[in-house]
Amino acid sequence: MKIFETLAYEETLDPEDWKVVRQLAHTMVDDMFDYLENVKNRPVWTPITEGAKNALNQPLPIEPMMPEHVYEEFKAHILPFNMGNVHPRFWSWVNGNGTAMGMMADMLASGMNPNNTIGEHAGQYVERQVITWLKAMFNYPSVGSGLLVSGGSVANITAIIVARNHFDQQIRNAGNAAVGGLLTMYCSSETHNCMMKAADVIGVGSDNLRKIPVDSDFQINVVALEQAILEDKKAGKVPFCIVGNAGTVNTGAIDPLSTLQNLATEYGLWFHVDGAFGALAKLDAAFGERLKAIETADSVAFDLHKWMYMNYEVGCVLVRDENIHRSAFAQAASYLAHHERGLASGIEPRSNFGLELSRNFKALKVWMLLKEHGIEKYRRLIRQNIAQIKYLSELIDNQMFLERLSEPVMNVLCFRFNPKNMSDEHLNMLNKEILMRLHEHGIAAPSYGLLNGKYAIRVANVNHRSRKEDFEALVEGVVKLGQELI
Ligand SMILES: *Cc1c(COP(=O)(O)O)cnc(C)c1O
Repeated sequence: MKIFETLAYEETLDPEDWKVVRQLAHTMVDDMFDYLENVKNRPVWTPITEGAKNALNQPLPIEPMMPEHVYEEFKAHILPFNMGNVHPRFWSWVNGNGTAMGMMADMLASGMNPNNTIGEHAGQYVERQVITWLKAMFNYPSVGSGLLVSGGSVANITAIIVARNHFDQQIRNAGNAAVGGLLTMYCSSETHNCMMKAADVIGVGSDNLRKIPVDSDFQINVVALEQAILEDKKAGKVPFCIVGNAGTVNTGAIDPLSTLQNLATEYGLWFHVDGAFGALAKLDAAFGERLKAIETADSVAFDLHKWMYMNYEVGCVLVRDENIHRSAFAQAASYLAHHERGLASGIEPRSNFGLELSRNFKALKVWMLLKEHGIEKYRRLIRQNIAQIKYLSELIDNQMFLERLSEPVMNVLCFRFNPKNMSDEHLNMLNKEILMRLHEHGIAAPSYGLLNGKYAIRVANVNHRSRKEDFEALVEGVVKLGQELI
């Protein structure tokens, strides 16, 4: 073979010496177990040093480096400056902790490294199994379909694409103009901004996502919603979808989902539920009634990396009708054609149900973790998180300098330091300063929200490591910093 004469030798990315890399891998596992086991002894957040930032702003590597040296750099410049969501005092945005077994599952998935979309191989059956379990978990129709995706945003966007494409069969080919009027969709003003991205991505435009005002409990005002639908119809617009919140990002509010479902049915609209974290509260019987409509929604989006504490990234979308789901995405291609036998046979490609073609084997960690813990343990942990927020609420109510800004309806609570002699404007500045210092001192990591113009310190508890004393430390920290500042 002439071509080989030009090659001195053939290369691979495999280790030159497997033994050496195997040894390094064992060290990595030990280090990460130490890291997780001792997480609570470290500050929740550590400012990144200039040295580390500098090490992460280097030219493209040209020549190889020994794996041990690459790992040394990781330990010096990356690991110490983690986000902190593995920590028991982290309650920012809505970020789960992950688990040790989840970490190992990701390693196994990455080692197998299938492209978990197409072909006859175990990964496809693992995902099918997991989707069946997740439907059962929500008491969702077993004939429904589902897809694991990167997270709640993509799960929501996927569902909205299905909603739109189902509304008029011409849309996929002819675009939104096929419906002969401006498509409109509806949600509350407290809805997560991924829904605006969804409206934008599907060409509806975020202006035509009507953000209906909320009542004092941050739930959508149903009267205003119906009015908006009627006005839009009268003006020749084309309503196609209502989005309900099962747990808003600011306060954990749950929209009156059954009422929304009824309105959607009455006006022939798709009913979607964004349950990114809140849908999981369905595991707590106390929320059974308020979240019942999840069982009948046309589609539901939720995350497993939030309130199922799984390692990033993994979210899920469920769609009531598999055919509708498929017809929103499936497209024939000769290079993806199904064969009767062999590798190209098997379960229908997952790409018929979503945007992605190449997908990692995130299903493995879901499968392993559900088996490892069983659903009852998740149920107890979710109840625990809700009880901890009630406890925090009591702690706040017992502190004269703290003011609660939301009700402890689920696992989210907003409050602020308020010495009662300042304007809202000053309080906003003061509380923002308190929050930044809480982080800088590594005391605790809640985040923030703006509620009716009031800057709130916001705790979103999807943390399986938090203990009562962690919330006590937060309250003490806020009071102490606030008093120092005034
Ligand atoms: C987090 C969140 C999302 C987005 O989910 P990602 O996993 O971050 O993409 C959507 N809606 C709500 C209510 C959320 O809390």
